[in-house]
Amino acid sequence: MKILIIEDEHKIANSIKKGLEQESYVVDVAYNGADGYDLAVSENYDVIVLDLMLPDMDGIEICRKLRAENIHIPILVLTAKGQLEDKVAGLNSGADDYLVKPFAFIELLARIKALARRPKNSLGTILTSGDLSLDTVTYQVKRDGKEIRLSKQEYALLEYLLRHANKILNKEQIISNIWDYDADILPNTVEVYIGYLRNKIDEPFPKSSKLIHTIRGFGYKIGGVK
Ligand code: CA
Repeated sequence: MKILIIEDEHKIANSIKKGLEQESYVVDVAYNGADGYDLAVSENYDVIVLDLMLPDMDGIEICRKLRAENIHIPILVLTAKGQLEDKVAGLNSGADDYLVKPFAFIELLARIKALARRPKNSLGTILTSGDLSLDTVTYQVKRDGKEIRLSKQEYALLEYLLRHANKILNKEQIISNIWDYDADILPNTVEVYIGYLRNKIDEPFPKSSKLIHTIRGFGYKIGGVK
């Protein structure tokens, strides 16, 4: 198990590192956001422990950038006491869990273990629904053996739907998980992108059953029978 700690307070970072090493984890530490981001994209970690207030690049931005690049390493966010907004922002930006400072090391260890244990199908590299597959490492999307080319946004939408296959996702969930905070979202943006996806993954395969379903008044889902 390899853990990345991104935390600018040396004392906290080093004590977490020491504790985790005693538990036989391999631990890298970055003391600023930019170094942390560089390590996160270039090395393979099982879990990232991420402070929010960081020099160079803050934790929220790191989270968003990693998720935008389809890096799905579980992220545990550290946030100062009482900063509820930070917590919400952290989770919205793609973090998996959070811990309020100051925390007991045993609590941190339990959270890291829980994240590392997460079912592999939520972290795996190939996501499927029916005869459609999406490889999160190579970004290859295929249906019935044929490769489908998607734009970055279409890909992100399809990946999000597949990670929650057979579940109804509403527009707000889709927007907060697929688009940046500062993106220009129109009232019909989600419909438009669902339409683009249908044109690429359902329309060209008339013999296969439709994968994307509209659940009127609720949202959308992929897979299963409507
Ligand atoms: Ca900090």
